[in-house]
This record gives sequence, structure tokens and C-alpha cells, in this order.
Amino acid sequence: MDIWNEKKRSAVMARIKSKDTKPEWIIRRYLYSKGYRYRKNVKKLPGSPDIVLRKYGVVIFVHGCFWHGHNIDGHIPLSNSDYWKNKIERNQERDKLNKQKLLNMGWAVIVVWECQLKRSKREQTLKEVEYYINKSYLDRLRVRNSTFYLSSVNESHKKLVAEDEILYGRRIKE
Ligand SMILES: [Zn+2]
Repeated sequence: MDIWNEKKRSAVMARIKSKDTKPEWIIRRYLYSKGYRYRKNVKKLPGSPDIVLRKYGVVIFVHGCFWHGHNIDGHIPLSNSDYWKNKIERNQERDKLNKQKLLNMGWAVIVVWECQLKRSKREQTLKEVEYYINKSYLDRLRVRNSTFYLSSVNESHKKLVAEDEILYGRRIKE
């Protein structure tokens, strides 16, 4: 039985959709089923990442191809094309800036495009996301636990790692 009338129902559906859009949900459901725990839409991090796996030091953005200008398939409507072009370029700039901020803070950043979650590509995308989460985690552990590793990397890398660790520790502590 449908307990809501049409109008109420669509209002509710719209609200759910804006909060938990489907592509994000595909990734969250997958990660959850594999035992990963995460937080959603973390506003205090740059760009409010859609998924944050603090234990792994990973944030995930799920980008709509049009709004974020996926240049493989982000075609621009013919009317008003300057308007859209500018808007999308601004989004891209902002995405780039947020990504850099997060990297500077020591997070690994994964961007998943909506089109990578189409049925034909979904399984591979999810596997790649999972692989990258684990790789980031292991890299992080290796850097933390092994002085041998640190002393064997070149100077610029060592500096980068040291800065990241400081910021990361400060930022993600509860
Ligand atoms: Zn795309």
C-alpha cells in the first residue's frame, strides 16, 4: 500500500535523491558489503568528499560527468553554451583546488566518474576503487613503520611525506 499521495511522495523522493544520489550509493553499498566503514559528505574537509575512509586515509568523490566536465563525455548544450562552459570550468577549477588541498593534508583522493558506474563498467570500477583503498593504506603503513623505507627515498619525497604526516595527524584526530 502506498501511504503517500503522489505529491508528497515525489517531494520525499527528491529529497532522498539529492542527499544520496545513486552513483554514490553504488559505491557505498559495495564498500559496506566488503566491511569498509566510512563517513558521508564530510563538510569539514575541502570539497565535502562523498565518502571518507579515515582509517585508510582515503577520500572518494563521485563526480557527475556533466557538472564536473568529464572531457570524455561532458558535452555542452548548444544554447547558452558559454554559460555552461564557464560554469563547468569553475567547477573543474574548484575540484582541482580541493583535490590539491586534500593531498597536501595527506589524504589519498579517488575520483569516480558517474560513467564509470554504468553496468558494463561497474564491476571493474568497484574493484579498482577497492584496490586503490588498500594500496593507499599499505603505502601509509609502510611509510609510518619503516625507517628503512624513509631513508631510502629521495629528499623531495621524504620532505613531502614528513609534511603530510604532520597535517594528516592534526586533521584526522577526533
Ligand atoms: Zn564520464
